[in-house]
Amino acid sequence: MGNNLNGFQYAIAFTKKYFQKTYANEINSGKILDCWEVLTMSYIIHDTCINCGACEPECPVSCIAAGDDKYIIDADTCIECGACAGVCPVDAPQPE
Ligand code: SF4
Ligand code: SF4
Repeated sequence: MGNNLNGFQYAIAFTKKYFQKTYANEINSGKILDCWEVLTMSYIIHDTCINCGACEPECPVSCIAAGDDKYIIDADTCIECGACAGVCPVDAPQPE
């Protein structure tokens, strides 16, 4: 994980990376869904994306990549820091 994360961002990234696998059954069965949904909120890139690529290098957890029609965010990795939204010229990344 990147070392340019603040403490809270690091905690979210760590939780997503290590606990998603550990608690897969509980998550899938809905037992801890409320808590998990809060932890796994993410940004998504809307269709207004013009494929400029400005957001990709800004992501501290490297979860943005070029897709077929627009850039896309790996929701499982996104820590909702908003850095991508800060550099996008068309406000395409938005909180889910
Ligand atoms: S909000 Fe944007 S920059 Fe931040 S982690 Fe998610 S995709 Fe990456
Ligand atoms: S900065 Fe905005 S327009 Fe550019 S690739 Fe990212 S989401 Fe698309």
